Amino acid sequence: LPGLLGDRDLLRTRLFDGEWRDAEGGAVFPVTNPARGDVIAEVADATRADAARAIERAHAAQAEWAATTAKHRAQVLRRWFDLMMAAQDDLATILTAEQGKPLAEAKGEIAYAASFIEFFAEEAKRVTGEIIPGHMPDKRIHVIRQPVGVVASITPWNFPSAMITRKAAPALAAGCAFVAKPAAETPLSATALAVLAERAGIPAGLLAVLPSTDAEGMGHEFTQNDRVRKLTFTGSTPVGRILLRQAADRVMKVSMELGGNAPFIVFDDADLDAAVEGAIACKFRNNGQTCVCANRLYVQSGIHDAFVEAFAKRVRAMTVGDGMEGADLGPLITGEAVEKVEAHLADAKGKGARVVTGGAPSGAGPLFYQPTIVTDVTRDMRFNEEETFGPFAPVYRFEDEDEVIALANDTIYGLAAYFYAKDLGRVTKVSEALEYGIVGVNTGIISTEVAPFGGVKQSGLGREGSTHGIDEFLEMKYVCLSI
Ligand code: ADP
Repeated sequence: LPGLLGDRDLLRTRLFDGEWRDAEGGAVFPVTNPARGDVIAEVADATRADAARAIERAHAAQAEWAATTAKHRAQVLRRWFDLMMAAQDDLATILTAEQGKPLAEAKGEIAYAASFIEFFAEEAKRVTGEIIPGHMPDKRIHVIRQPVGVVASITPWNFPSAMITRKAAPALAAGCAFVAKPAAETPLSATALAVLAERAGIPAGLLAVLPSTDAEGMGHEFTQNDRVRKLTFTGSTPVGRILLRQAADRVMKVSMELGGNAPFIVFDDADLDAAVEGAIACKFRNNGQTCVCANRLYVQSGIHDAFVEAFAKRVRAMTVGDGMEGADLGPLITGEAVEKVEAHLADAKGKGARVVTGGAPSGAGPLFYQPTIVTDVTRDMRFNEEETFGPFAPVYRFEDEDEVIALANDTIYGLAAYFYAKDLGRVTKVSEALEYGIVGVNTGIISTEVAPFGGVKQSGLGREGSTHGIDEFLEMKYVCLSI
């Protein structure tokens, strides 16, 4: 891997808490390339004691940072953004090496990740307050917004760079300190971000990156340490529930970006080609490993067969292989991820589903799987309840609008939903009826730093990105002035 980088200094295997350190006790853990199976680095395995020290340093750095002008924070963040974009190729190479997604997608993720830093650098200057007319002649009411303090973050492996910047950028812009535990599968993208943050002038201690295999221990430190005022988490709903319970003991502020079970609906009046392209982008991005990937496709009976045929044609043309070498689909992240795809497929087949294309491991290596479409699916199949998180596309046939809205909403999740239709009345009605935080209409790609991303129901709490994203890291204070 170092040989592939223009700037080898971006590759760091120690933890960062303002200084680059070995873990207490010196433990390390291996990071593997999922495409090739080889170990690409041995990374410091942070302990709870390391986390406690990082939190202490973050606490010490935070007050001074919060006292700087918003303009100063904006300038530092803007430099971080510029450095990320200048290092886009190297960061993408590191990302693909540890995560597996195709290099072009990895570059896209780096630009997406950096966009949050650019956006919140700008937003830092717009954290304003309010003056409310007093409720008595001698009273004046001022509302100010202040940083919450030290923020702890836990993030997954599917977007190793963007899931961190989407939290870190608004937190730092608001005047908070930020202590991150990246996923153990993908720590190198996180430490590379810290190298650039340091170069950009983020004060020592304000930002920490703690790779660790002790996720539970870190979760306990983050929720039990009194210095930590806010926990921001992206990951599965089961782990989100655990962390919410832990956070309850200290009534911590939390943001939760949890699982999804996205429906993708194609109505008879849809533009067929656009719907197929949208389904490809939405289902197979990152090999199906995103929480906004279509998990269930519903196609109205009048367009069903034509859609399946065109969709299958596109899917058959997709290449599977090492993301470093230009394939459309890379490997899945782990053996368990492959097993889940196989389990969902076997369950569906056992209950009468028909495989249209794919349906087996790919010859490219142990973690590669063929993109798969099945039809004749029913509500009793496992993927209805669980996110597959892989290249498995089950297609339902449906008859009417109310039926499909009920099917789409019949889940504990409510993150993203998509539909294709042209009729304006239908577009309006269905957009309003879907119980989701995000709805894509005639598009399969919805992520952008300028829009509020987040879920309803058991998909989460809070929003990330947009002008609302910074609110998660601010407390409102009302000052009652008697004159
Ligand atoms: P995914 O399926 O995306 O891996 P997880 O929810 O399992 O989703 O993991 C997301 C993040 O949560 C990872 O950084 C992981 O290490 C962390 N994590 C997993 N279990 C716990 C836990 N009990 N406490 C704190 N963090 C956890």
